[in-house]
Amino acid sequence: MNRAIAIANQKGGVGKSTTAINLSACLAEAGKRVLTIDIDPQGNTTSGLGIDKNNVNNTVYELLLGECEISDCIIDLEIDNLSLIPSNINLSGAEIELIGVENKEYILKSNIEQMKEQYDFIIIDCPPSLNMLTINAMTTADTVLVPIQCEYYALEGLTQLMHTIDLVQERLNPDLEIEGVVFTMYDARTNLSLQVVENVKANLNQMIYKTIIPRNVRLAEAPSYGLPITLYDSKSAGAESYRLLAEEVLHRGDEEWL
Ligand code: ATP
Ligand code: MG
Repeated sequence: MNRAIAIANQKGGVGKSTTAINLSACLAEAGKRVLTIDIDPQGNTTSGLGIDKNNVNNTVYELLLGECEISDCIIDLEIDNLSLIPSNINLSGAEIELIGVENKEYILKSNIEQMKEQYDFIIIDCPPSLNMLTINAMTTADTVLVPIQCEYYALEGLTQLMHTIDLVQERLNPDLEIEGVVFTMYDARTNLSLQVVENVKANLNQMIYKTIIPRNVRLAEAPSYGLPITLYDSKSAGAESYRLLAEEVLHRGDEEWL
């Protein structure tokens, strides 16, 4: 089995990059071969995995513009089983530079195709917008994982996101599925978090992961050390929750396990 998962929500700051970094690390820890692709010009997943984003020659930008081969931009990280295609601010110009380029929706997909067999999971961190970069992630992906932050405006924007996924399914990638929804930054001390979870469950007809990621300060600290939570604080509540999420992702569709 291998699966490419795009982590998308055009709402900013909901935990996409934190989930990309730590889900990747937990799947790698479980012995799976993982390629993480950062397709956000902010490069948070790149720096969060310990790579100096201002000091990389070949990034996803060069790949999309056809200026490098895929093998030139994959970095084998010091973390076992984990590789990364990095990103940085240069990528913010890609959308404009790709105007008029034929099949620009499929550039990432056509490059990944030749590498796909080498990995069990490909995890793609999307930018907070529904642009050509996100479209490239969604044509490459088998599934879309949607992080939802446990805050008052959680449902806002989800309609557009679901509509975009539907359009991509209809026109560009008929096999695309929704992987599921994962709640992030859950604060057990407030009623609000609980209300948001219940509200989303009542209003969103999607598969929702049982694992809920708590608000955990160690998760917020880890990126500044360039480490995933499994290496920064392996026993923290954040690490345990991402391990549980990885277990669920590993057993998705496996009826016996549920
Ligand atoms: P963007 O839309 O800008 O790409 P994002 O959706 O990728 O944002 P993150 O960068 O993962 O979101 O998270 C936003 C902020 O919240 C970061 O500072 C991150 O460290 C923090 N954060 C994310 N998840 C948690 C958590 N479970 N507990 C505590 N802090 C968290
Ligand atoms: Mg991000």
